[in-house]
Amino acid sequence: MEPEHDKLVQMLRAARNMLIFTGAGISTTSGIPDFRGPEGVWKRRQPVYYHDFMRSESARIEHWDYKLEGWPAFRAARPNATHHAIAQLERAGKVAVVVTQNIDGLHTRAGTSREKLVELHGTNTLVECQSCGELSDPEPHFEAFRRTRRPPLCHCGGFLKPATISFGQNLRNEDLERAETAAADADLVVALGSTLSVYPAANIPLGAAARGIPFVIINRGPTEQDGRPEVTLRFEGDVSEIFPPAVSEALR
Ligand SMILES: [Zn+2]
Repeated sequence: MEPEHDKLVQMLRAARNMLIFTGAGISTTSGIPDFRGPEGVWKRRQPVYYHDFMRSESARIEHWDYKLEGWPAFRAARPNATHHAIAQLERAGKVAVVVTQNIDGLHTRAGTSREKLVELHGTNTLVECQSCGELSDPEPHFEAFRRTRRPPLCHCGGFLKPATISFGQNLRNEDLERAETAAADADLVVALGSTLSVYPAANIPLGAAARGIPFVIINRGPTEQDGRPEVTLRFEGDVSEIFPPAVSEALR
């Protein structure tokens, strides 16, 4: 085995309080499209900004139409070896927090607990009322929208929206605080499948690594933090081929 692989296994074995940061690259093998990649959705569609969603019926229709287009892929997606490896690390008592940029809900499906998970950009697996905050199952709302082409409303009269953070919408303070609190005590940072280019999310792993703890990046393609002095190990390639085998070896 490669010496870098052995180093990763040793780090995973030694860790007691990891911060795991994940991006789109861990879910592409589960059939979730990478929104920012070369074939990304944003090459075809204009994103609807939060401000417009709240003000304009046509913007709400556009947003629901875009979400409806992606819904069958999200509903059918299943966690892959990387999601399962992360859940195993938690069961082994090694995880402080899993911070994800992904909205696909696959960490939860793989068994990562709610207490350990921060979904920075929200989730597609719930719909949220923009007035009363009530959360509900997306399926009936998508059904209704498909039939009527009218954006669904809450029983309180508020606008319903898939519970993801829209463009122009702030991340939830509570989420950032949970991530930062865990980062302050972490003993290892692992960034998986993220180009580390979307802020403030990308500051979370880097901020933890700046305390002098090991920082591992695994990603296919360049990241914005490659070559930084905080990076201890950098693996190039498919996360699902690199990370799960190292986890099984470390937990053996
Ligand atoms: Zn409501």
